[in-house]
Amino acid sequence: MTSNAKERLGNVLVLGLGRTGESVARYAASLVPSRVDSVTLYGGASSTPGEKTGELEAAGVTVICGTEDVRGSYDLAVASPGIPETSEFFRAAAACSREVIGEPEFAFRESPERWVAITGTNGKTTTTSLATHLLREGGLLAESVGNIGTLVTDRVSVRPEGEWFVAELSSFQLATTRLLHPRVSVILNVTPDHLEWHGTMEAYAAAKERALENQCAGDLAVVSVDDDFCRAMAERAEARGLRVCRLSVHEEPSSSCAAFLRDDSLVVRLDGTEHALVDASELKIFGRHNAENALAAASVALELGVSEVDVCRGLASFSPIEHRIEPAGVVGGVRYVNDSKATNTDSVEKALTAFDEGTIVVLLGGHDKMTDLGSLARAVCDRCFAAVCYGEAGERIARALEDAREGSGSQLVVLRAPHLREAFDEAVRVARAGDTVLLSPACSSFDEFSNMGERGRLFKELVRNLADGGESA
Ligand code: ADP
Repeated sequence: MTSNAKERLGNVLVLGLGRTGESVARYAASLVPSRVDSVTLYGGASSTPGEKTGELEAAGVTVICGTEDVRGSYDLAVASPGIPETSEFFRAAAACSREVIGEPEFAFRESPERWVAITGTNGKTTTTSLATHLLREGGLLAESVGNIGTLVTDRVSVRPEGEWFVAELSSFQLATTRLLHPRVSVILNVTPDHLEWHGTMEAYAAAKERALENQCAGDLAVVSVDDDFCRAMAERAEARGLRVCRLSVHEEPSSSCAAFLRDDSLVVRLDGTEHALVDASELKIFGRHNAENALAAASVALELGVSEVDVCRGLASFSPIEHRIEPAGVVGGVRYVNDSKATNTDSVEKALTAFDEGTIVVLLGGHDKMTDLGSLARAVCDRCFAAVCYGEAGERIARALEDAREGSGSQLVVLRAPHLREAFDEAVRVARAGDTVLLSPACSSFDEFSNMGERGRLFKELVRNLADGGESA
């Protein structure tokens, strides 16, 4: 463990009985009595006692299930990411606690050295994994943590000396940070998503900006200038003297720190020194958005001392992560690609740029988040040969596509299917050799699956069955 002398935490309150709540409660309980006086966990209205609560109680945690009416007096409350600041549960906890923070902030306070924070609406996981890969390529110790799957708190007590935490942080997690101070932060993009949680785009963007809040001279903020929200953040950060690496795949920023494409080649400039890296075509992750992710990750690695040679080798060797424009096989000359992780419209628009115009059969649908479909529909009409719309959102998407097609000159074939299996069959039926059948659904999966991973795995199974000559259903 790398932590130095730590302050007393006093009476600790934990909200939520999921993985986060459990981990924080266990960790805090391990600090009794030296730094913690008591640990109380409220599981929430729908929580019930069971094996897990029994184990926590055995570890010394007071567990209260079935209510969100928090009582008592606490020095520190740690809320799980699924509990919005606007909820009664959160408010009740705030009313009887000196402060309420989220889990990454808690972990940061326990182990604040060597943090990289990566956020954005899309591209977080890819950039986080790639940055970790590049740091390791340069011989540094690095671990991907946070939203990517490993709770930071779980790593704190086993963290080796010198290890970098490359933390993927969602807007939910950032909304409850206060002292978090990454040595390098990355903000990739801010486009509409999760508005049901944050209320407005401004609140959503403000949560992401917290990644920069405590950074100071000597730190680096890698911030996209390709969307208005991010560009404004970059300008605000520059105005207070922060080193900002302007990230763009559309222009060549003139600032002394910048990451951009020059004739399709990745270039990172740090304090005026340019590093010409690989060509975008040498990456195994496709599309402009992935060039953006690669530029961001390369900026992190170069800033932390990884050599140009090591960065180039790492960029060329990094393979797509499961469910993110993941090649799923070629059958009868048709390429199948699993982009199940594309759960909002912007990520689909980006994914469409990774393939040749007019050769894409896209599968769109799932749980309807009721986001505006205008821009997506235009992109689908421009780039795809056919679209198969399925699931709860299928009809609304199909209509939006037909509206966009009208008068646009597009020949887009719009098809409808009840579920993913039937949508897949339709796609197989219309795809021609040389086409790409792309599952990039623009929706979450909850109408049909328990998560996007299950959806992506079914898609890959359907491709395997097809290759084996079996039934796709
Ligand atoms: P996140 O962790 O933020 O959800 P991922 O790296 O898992 O991001 O990618 C999710 C999806 O978002 C991908 O399947 C891809 O379609 C899209 N995507 C990835 N990177 C970007 C980016 N930089 N800009 C826009 N969309 C992206």
